[in-house]
Amino acid sequence: MSTILIRGGWVLPMAGGGPLKDGMIKIVDGKIATVGPWREPAKDSPPGEIVDARDRLVMPGLVNTHTHAAMVLFRGFADDLPLMTWLKEKIWPLEEKLTPEDIYWGTRLAINEMLLSGTTTFADMYFHQEEVARAVEETGIRAVLSRGLIGLSDHAEKDLEEAVTSAKKWRGQAGGKITTMLGPHASYTCPPGFLKQVVAAARRYQLGLHIHLAETGDELVQIGKEYGKRPVAYLADQGVFTRPVLAAHAVWLDDAEISYLARQKVGIAHNPSSNMKLASGIAPVPKLLAAKIPVGLGTDGAASNNRLDLLTETRTAALLHKVKTEDPTAIPAETALKMATVYGARVLGLGDTTGSLEPGKNADLIMIDLRKSHLAPVHDPFSLVVYAARGSDVSGVMVGGEWLVKEGKLLKWEENEVISESSRCARSLVAR
Ligand SMILES: [Zn+2]
Repeated sequence: MSTILIRGGWVLPMAGGGPLKDGMIKIVDGKIATVGPWREPAKDSPPGEIVDARDRLVMPGLVNTHTHAAMVLFRGFADDLPLMTWLKEKIWPLEEKLTPEDIYWGTRLAINEMLLSGTTTFADMYFHQEEVARAVEETGIRAVLSRGLIGLSDHAEKDLEEAVTSAKKWRGQAGGKITTMLGPHASYTCPPGFLKQVVAAARRYQLGLHIHLAETGDELVQIGKEYGKRPVAYLADQGVFTRPVLAAHAVWLDDAEISYLARQKVGIAHNPSSNMKLASGIAPVPKLLAAKIPVGLGTDGAASNNRLDLLTETRTAALLHKVKTEDPTAIPAETALKMATVYGARVLGLGDTTGSLEPGKNADLIMIDLRKSHLAPVHDPFSLVVYAARGSDVSGVMVGGEWLVKEGKLLKWEENEVISESSRCARSLVAR
């Protein structure tokens, strides 16, 4: 039995009780055993490791509910363009040339960045899922993987077969850290017949669906022209919402669609930076939350962000909805932080196993070093994390009871090796 005791400092459990000033967390065999005020451990059961967390803030690891990890290779390659121009002229032609090695090192680079800024779980939609899964397994981060499926592609059916094989093979792997979904890309890339096949496969193998939904006004126009309806109705007609759905963006929704998505128990990944950068619009997040839809935060791919820093998304979400609604009480700090943690876990179907510091859940947690000028004083720990902290303030990261980051450094591998291998892949990709 391995026991870790983290004691002292602020503890934000994000569920089942408010912040603790001098808190203590006991971790046994990778799971949280107790969370409470700091007291001395009993003499007869000495813990294996005691972590002094005074001057630190301990909270659940952040949950990035939507990204395309290996797109870090395109960071800064194509900026300041509209979504369709960006996709068709810049991103898709390069994606055609991606090799398994590119995906592996791109995903490793993304995992570096996510871990070092406090993300312990991410939901990915991309290609060469075998390589993504290998990177996840080797590093020890938690992930929900889906192979992106472009129904318009001339090898769409073969891709679907490959996606199903990979989803079956990898779910529950990496010590239970990997779960899988199918990833039909979007309404405008997946025709009705193909979507129906994806839904049938998802039903047969008990898989959820990860899809881009109502991201831009153009999508509404295009689906309206082709099928005479809005994206939600189009996807509903193909049976998409009969499966558990992780919907990214959900920017262009009307009130009836919000009620419908709430009834269908759809989870939504809100990606404020990506939506702002691509000028896609502003998702109606206060309305979604009022309708009791679980809403998590996502970075989207690094090509449209260009950071995979979920604390940036948390701050941006809190600010964006205030200016949109002209209401400074919209998305208060505590709500924003719930979106980044406990709600995000729910969106991914992992609400029982991660996202908050509660007994029985996996020990997925982060420590923020408060010994910084910009993090003093601590009047309100939620406010401090959301409005003042930065991803680079994360000093410790634990996933499933295993420390992956301590004192701001990756413990299991050389950060620089990953930077140089992925940079080599990126250079060769654009030259290909
Ligand atoms: Zn996306």
